[in-house]
Amino acid sequence: MDTPSPTSSAPVTAPAHLPDRWPWQRSLQARMIIAFGGAFLIILALLTFWLGRTVYNTYLDAAEHDLEVAAFLASNALEDPLSGYASEFAQYQQWEAEREHAAVAPSDDTRDDDNKKEDDEDDDAERATPAPTPLPAPTPEIVLPRLQGVADLYARDANARVTILDKNGHPVADSQYDIERITPQGAQMEVVMALRGEELSDIRADAFTGALTLFAAAPIQQGSEMLGVVQLSQPMQVVAERARALVLTIILAGVVAVLASTVLAVWISRRLVRPVLRLEQAALAAAQGDLSQQVPVQTSDELGALAQAFNRMVGAVHTMLEQQRAFVAHASHELRTPLTNIKLRIEVVRALGDEAPDISERYLAEIESEANRLARLANALLDLAHLESRPAPPPDKRVDLAPMLHNAAAIMQLRAQLAGVTMTAAAPATLPPVKVHPEQVEEAVLNLLDNAIKYTPAGGRVALTAAATPERLIVNVSDTGAGIPPDDLPHIFDRFYRVDKARSRTRGGQSGMGSGAGLGLAIVKQLVEQNQGSVTVESTPDQGANFSVSFPLMA
Ligand code: ADP
Repeated sequence: MDTPSPTSSAPVTAPAHLPDRWPWQRSLQARMIIAFGGAFLIILALLTFWLGRTVYNTYLDAAEHDLEVAAFLASNALEDPLSGYASEFAQYQQWEAEREHAAVAPSDDTRDDDNKKEDDEDDDAERATPAPTPLPAPTPEIVLPRLQGVADLYARDANARVTILDKNGHPVADSQYDIERITPQGAQMEVVMALRGEELSDIRADAFTGALTLFAAAPIQQGSEMLGVVQLSQPMQVVAERARALVLTIILAGVVAVLASTVLAVWISRRLVRPVLRLEQAALAAAQGDLSQQVPVQTSDELGALAQAFNRMVGAVHTMLEQQRAFVAHASHELRTPLTNIKLRIEVVRALGDEAPDISERYLAEIESEANRLARLANALLDLAHLESRPAPPPDKRVDLAPMLHNAAAIMQLRAQLAGVTMTAAAPATLPPVKVHPEQVEEAVLNLLDNAIKYTPAGGRVALTAAATPERLIVNVSDTGAGIPPDDLPHIFDRFYRVDKARSRTRGGQSGMGSGAGLGLAIVKQLVEQNQGSVTVESTPDQGANFSVSFPLMA
């Protein structure tokens, strides 16, 4: 049992042998948008990812650096409170106290006048260079509040938590927590490095908050003496928040770029696809017989070239069809005339019966003549159709045309004599060889000789000559006949073209070669051109015509 073919129900627009797996495969535009948009999206996603990472890392580096700098500045500021500043402060207080004491007790001076001057000098000397006094050690009551102050100040400035540790890693002040609550931090990496005199930053979970935190520490040194460490910490969230704003801006810009590129892709693909769709419409209309279709050529690119090629193709098909129609019309007209003539005469002969044998005999002869003309016409049409549909393969043999030319002249000699025309043949015994099919060239030459005899009145001359130039072999068929008017010359090789229809037909009736329907020269042209030759004509009306056939000589 026959199963229905899977191709029978396929839509006209999608060939059955190319099944569409996805709906978008049916649209060139969709494919282009997906291809452009997809590629752009991937590039953009990678770019955004890379940019985001870079921005985040840059912010992190900057935050680490800022925190390290803040730690360094804080450590510098803390050198004094931890060491010399407190003692200086104590020294200043002592000096103030001494000054006050001197101001309130001037009458204590009870020495002799003799000694007074000396004493004054001594006093002056003492005041100018006061004796160095041993300084009291800085007490925690003096130092700790100042350290706390410095910690608070830098915490505010750096927007970070500041912890000050002594050289054993014990907390001394903290900007955020009570120091009693803070465990010694001597083991933390950045603190260890700071105690060795180096600055470092680290990211880890904070002991209090548990949140990921950035830590940086710097040593507090006086000369080579290690006094302690200042540690700064900042939740990573702060860093991430700063980076997030920029990453969000980048993503937003990416989304805008994707939207813009999609709009652009749609616009470009529309512009590209529109002429293709127009071409499709025109091709479908042409397939339905409207060969007046022309598509606008708007670009100079491949699509423009395609539109141009389409227009040319439709134009060529249109011209070919017109020629074909004209040919059929001509051919049927040419066939109808002799057929009508034959039919009319048969009716007359039949009506006459045996009454007028002379007239019947004349009509029968005319019927025969018309039948012959029909046969010639049919042969000529067949020749032409044959030449066009099945052209002979390109000639591959080199031929000397001289014997063929002499033979053609001999064949036509009797016809010339009967017509009262003198025919001469002047060709050398041998000619340079040419690559042609000799039988086809002979047919062309016979046709030209036939025409020359046909259109030359009795007493005229027909000459067949052949000669070679360096490049070509030229065969001329000339006559002293009626010639061809200049207006007709350009059309003389067209099918069914006759200069003087009446003249052609009556003279052609005697001919054994041409049809008399204007097909002889069209056949000649076809034969010559199929052998890489060319045929031209020159004529002066009432003086004769010269047909010239030439073929390229072999190098
Ligand atoms: P036909 O069969 O009518 O002769 P051809 O194609 O051979 O058709 O010739 C076309 C027309 O060219 C003829 O009708 C004739 O008018 C003109 N012609 C051809 N050869 C000659 C010639 N040698 N001298 C004058 N006219 C010619």
